[in-house]
Amino acid sequence: MIFERIAIVGAGLIGASVALAAREAGAAGGISIYDANESVRQRARSLGFGAVFDDPEAAAAEADLVLLCVPVGAMAAAMGSVAPALKSGAIVSDVGSVKGAVIDAVRKLTPAHTFLVPGHPLAGTEHSGPDAGFAALFKGRWQIITPLDDARPEYAAAVEKLEAFWRALGAQVERMDASRHDVVLAVVSHLPHLIAFNIVAMAEDLESVTESEVVKYSASGFRDFTRIAASDPTMWRDVFLNNRDAVLEVLGRFSEDLAALQRAIRWGEGETLYALFDRARRMRREVIEAGQDTPAPNWGREN
Ligand code: NAP
Repeated sequence: MIFERIAIVGAGLIGASVALAAREAGAAGGISIYDANESVRQRARSLGFGAVFDDPEAAAAEADLVLLCVPVGAMAAAMGSVAPALKSGAIVSDVGSVKGAVIDAVRKLTPAHTFLVPGHPLAGTEHSGPDAGFAALFKGRWQIITPLDDARPEYAAAVEKLEAFWRALGAQVERMDASRHDVVLAVVSHLPHLIAFNIVAMAEDLESVTESEVVKYSASGFRDFTRIAASDPTMWRDVFLNNRDAVLEVLGRFSEDLAALQRAIRWGEGETLYALFDRARRMRREVIEAGQDTPAPNWGREN
């Protein structure tokens, strides 16, 4: 057991998965749950992955770890709702997909007798809500920890304890600076999502031209974008509003490269196209070799 009691604030996909994984791994003696949404609390009660409280302070009062699992834009409200009840020495962490903005919003609300250790599990699905949670979500996936510049001697031990917790849930843990995290995630997650949202929305606009053939023939590649684009709109709105600088930077580079591709197509520059596609294919091999995806053709689908 790593923590005697953990409190999870926000019982959606990630919060429910942490609760289920912690229970399975025996990483927490007790699990308290709070969600601002009453119907989510009711659902969490019937799913039975922790003791569900109607009051955030009551949920957080006895916890050694309070994990904020709410959308990035709601982190400050969630922190504010538990702050008065936090016990001395408690670790507060989060799972937000953006780190710089969350740290700015939450740090000033963190009581001096607690330790703020922000984090982000690089694990998720396109589903949300408590029913979407599952215990194996974090197995073999990365958990990024972005420790603060906190000189208190006990802070290092708090970081190590949180890392041990995520390892117990099956994650591989790595430390990173918050601003680096935000740039890396803009490349590997935020921009790919933005492109998927854009392609799917564009195809929907063209539906009247293509007479529903986009959906009919979607297995040609389009359906893989629809999976990413099915992700929760609140979560993604908050990601883009809160990681604006890094996303705009990466998007600028992407737009330039796209214009170069457009030009290569227009001028029939086959070698340019081939060289880029070949590089991209090698990247896919590297992703598989790093254990980040299955080598099965078409992701192991039967068709
Ligand atoms: P989710 O399934 O939508 O769950 C979030 C829950 O938090 C909802 O039930 C929401 O209620 C509740 N909530 C909102 N404000 C609250 C508050 N102030 N206090 C208590 N509860 C509150 O979202 P999720 O996918 O688990 O994502 C949670 C966090 O994890 C986000 O910060 C996201 O960036 C991060 N993350 C997500 C993924 C992913 O793939 N989904 C992966 C890694 C990290 P309402 O529905 O009523 O708003």
